[in-house]
Amino acid sequence: MANPNSNPNNQNKNPNNKNFFNNNPLLAFAIFSILIIMIFKSFIGEGEGIGSMLQTNVSQTQHVKYSQIKEEITQGDVKSVKLTSSTIEAIIDKSGQKIRYVAQNVPTYDKDLIPLLDEKKIAYEGVVGNGWFSELISMLLPILIFFAIWIFLANRMSKGMGGGILGAGKADKLINSEKPDTKFDDVQGVEEAKDEVKEIVDFLKYPERYIELGAKIPKGVLLVGPPGTGKTLLAKAVAGEASVPFFSVSGSAFIEMFVGVGASRVRDLFAQAKKEAPSIIFIDEIDAIGKSRASGGQLGGNDEREQTLNQLLAEMDGFGTDTPVIVLAATNRPETLDAALLRAGRFDRQVLVDKPDYEGRLAILKVHSKDVKLAKNVDMEIVAKQTAGLAGADLANIINEAALLAGRFNKKEIEQEDLLEAIERAFVGLEKKNRKISDMEKKIVAYHESGHALMAELTKGATRVTKVSIIPRGLGALGYTLHLPDEEDRFLKQKHELMAEVDVLLSGRAAEEVFIGEISTGAGNDLDRATAILKDMISVYGMSDVAGLMVLKRSQNSFLGGGMVSTDYSEKMAEDIDNHIKQTLNERYAYVKQTLRDYHDAIVQMASILLNVEVIEGTKVREIIDNYEKEHQMPSRLAHEAKSITEAAKPKEDTQA
Ligand code: ADP
Ligand code: ZN
Repeated sequence: MANPNSNPNNQNKNPNNKNFFNNNPLLAFAIFSILIIMIFKSFIGEGEGIGSMLQTNVSQTQHVKYSQIKEEITQGDVKSVKLTSSTIEAIIDKSGQKIRYVAQNVPTYDKDLIPLLDEKKIAYEGVVGNGWFSELISMLLPILIFFAIWIFLANRMSKGMGGGILGAGKADKLINSEKPDTKFDDVQGVEEAKDEVKEIVDFLKYPERYIELGAKIPKGVLLVGPPGTGKTLLAKAVAGEASVPFFSVSGSAFIEMFVGVGASRVRDLFAQAKKEAPSIIFIDEIDAIGKSRASGGQLGGNDEREQTLNQLLAEMDGFGTDTPVIVLAATNRPETLDAALLRAGRFDRQVLVDKPDYEGRLAILKVHSKDVKLAKNVDMEIVAKQTAGLAGADLANIINEAALLAGRFNKKEIEQEDLLEAIERAFVGLEKKNRKISDMEKKIVAYHESGHALMAELTKGATRVTKVSIIPRGLGALGYTLHLPDEEDRFLKQKHELMAEVDVLLSGRAAEEVFIGEISTGAGNDLDRATAILKDMISVYGMSDVAGLMVLKRSQNSFLGGGMVSTDYSEKMAEDIDNHIKQTLNERYAYVKQTLRDYHDAIVQMASILLNVEVIEGTKVREIIDNYEKEHQMPSRLAHEAKSITEAAKPKEDTQA
């Protein structure tokens, strides 16, 4: 039986196995608890051993009630007595035979026992250890066994998970290690961000220079920007330019893992990176780990995430500014990050990696079309112009999509039309020609979209129509009117442009009412957006007489799911705003309906083309309107200015449209 003294020996093994236990905290705990059980067991064993050695000539042991032992004592049959806090053992001599009486659950408050033993001159002794230990064991053993089993199962489960997801059964695979050959030239359209991370490259290349100067090098840099803008690519380029190892993990992958593992992975990650310093650690989606604890949301929080976050903070504080390891992290939601992460010495630098502008898009398109065959007719400038608002990843996709389209038609080169088709797909989702829609649905959509197209052409400040289609795309959208900005990106909108948007949005439903005679649910989204624009014009941009220059905020109370809305303006003001929006919408709607009636046959013509071939180009739309105006000898209203919001809301004095 194991001697309790063997414990130190076991502990001595730990340093040798340090890595093993660090990597397997659960296993270590399981082994530790089994050890404890063994130690306790050996104690009990010893207790029993001593007992039986002393009483070699006892012929039998009987378990009796305490009262019986006490009676034997009173009668004088008892030779000796052993007491623990809860048991009593009496050796009784009955006609030459020694019998051991044992009673459990002795009432410890029996104060008469010891005087009685003294009086009868019976030898007695107290045995502390045995009772105490067996008590403790009887309490602890089931718990320990439970824990041991639980840990065993947990360990197997996490291994199983690891095995399923990661192949080798070791979560180490979560940490990707590579030496990328990405260069800064591969990352385009994010020039400011590139400039900001360039000095990191120098530090990784020549760490001694900086260390000798005593310079404090940034440890952590946070790359902030929308998805697909090239944050990962930029981090890789830093490693590639400096030709240092690149260790990357994803924040969300950490959190999905089994309890207690996230923190130890962070430890591993930093250990590996430090071992191969100079190096780069890249943590994608850091918001998954670094969500603000204050805004936690879930009751009780997420212990796993918090442990992982704490470990990350500890690691970042743990290495000095003379260790050439730089942690780059990416997020598209910097506002959700825990303030502790952004403190000095951690991610105290933030670099914005934003969506590219026209020049940037052009450069990105060029990078990604290097390895594809382009026809001579391809004009990337047009592609760049028509992709305002898309991120680098979308542009890379467009090139690839165009190549796939060209391949499908067995072309040798990608042509401009393939690229344009790919752009459309990027904007409105995949074309679904096979979805069956009823003839009535088709007719509604054709008139709805024709209404949008006409209004967009007639209204100054609205974006010109590129293409109208009633081919259903993506989810929800049965048809669409594609307005691609013909100039460069727009950051400001003038008042008349916002009003133009409202008119165009209302025209879909107006067309349904005028030409179909009944309205459908198809305009829901349009009306929603029109209302939102008017609301913003009044309460955010100070563009109305109702609120003047006053900005009116509404704050949603997030308590219990945000049922309450609190405003910082009066009920009266709220009423005025609502009335104003309603009145404006009604008036604009009336105006739009009248306009559609004025152009009745033009709309019918557009809709019938749509019903036939499903698409009309913008140029055709303009031609139809032009011809219609000539035919009816009416003054051209192409690019007619929409009325401003204040004018529109005034009582009907000047109804002249
Ligand atoms: P993020 O990490 O910001 O979500 P990624 O770096 O993962 O974006 O971008 C995905 C892919 O899109 C890249 O591998 C690259 O092919 C392309 N890409 C994105 N941004 C750019 C860019 N600025 N320049 C060149 N390619 C880009
Ligand atoms: Zn619409």
